[in-house]
Amino acid sequence: MKKGEGVYNVVVIGAGTAGLVTAAGTAGLGGRVALIERNLMGGDCLNFGCVPSKALISSARLIQQIRESEKWGLDQLEPQFAKTSCKKFCDRYRQPCRGSQDQRRRERSLFHQ
Ligand SMILES: Cc1cc2nc3c(=O)[nH]c(=O)nc-3n(C[C@H](O)[C@H](O)[C@H](O)COP(=O)(O)OP(=O)(O)OC[C@H]3O[C@@H](n4cnc5c(N)ncnc54)[C@H](O)[C@@H]3O)c2cc1C
Repeated sequence: MKKGEGVYNVVVIGAGTAGLVTAAGTAGLGGRVALIERNLMGGDCLNFGCVPSKALISSARLIQQIRESEKWGLDQLEPQFAKTSCKKFCDRYRQPCRGSQDQRRRERSLFHQ
């Protein structure tokens, strides 16, 4: 059946955690689902909340460990956050969940099964 034609069992608005789980659950049960997202696939959790915050927390832990390097017999070091590297690091965490650019472009408009 062509995109936009026929009957959908469920239309999900928003591809955040809740929307993705609902869409995947419906599709898993054999239902036809339309998933509509106006911004980024993955919503807050993947793009702004859970995933980036955990990446930053892991960087902060590492910085603290390096600051305490004398405990391990090393010279004391004073590492700093590098904004650009931090962004690249967060993006690397998100990339496997977000798929390719083509996939994201398709998904951003309307995604049918
Ligand atoms: C800093 C931070 C850290 C967090 N850490 C954790 C954690 O460790 N563990 C945890 O469980 N939770 C965490 N959370 C909470 C988690 O991010 C949210 O609970 C979760 O994202 C909620 O998902 P959701 O699908 O309900 O909403 P959202 O993620 O907000 O998704 C809603 C989606 O709907 C789309 N949308 C809205 N209106 C429309 C419309 N009219 N048309 C089309 N699309 C629309 C939006 O663009 C968005 O993509 C954290 C949150 C923050 C801010």
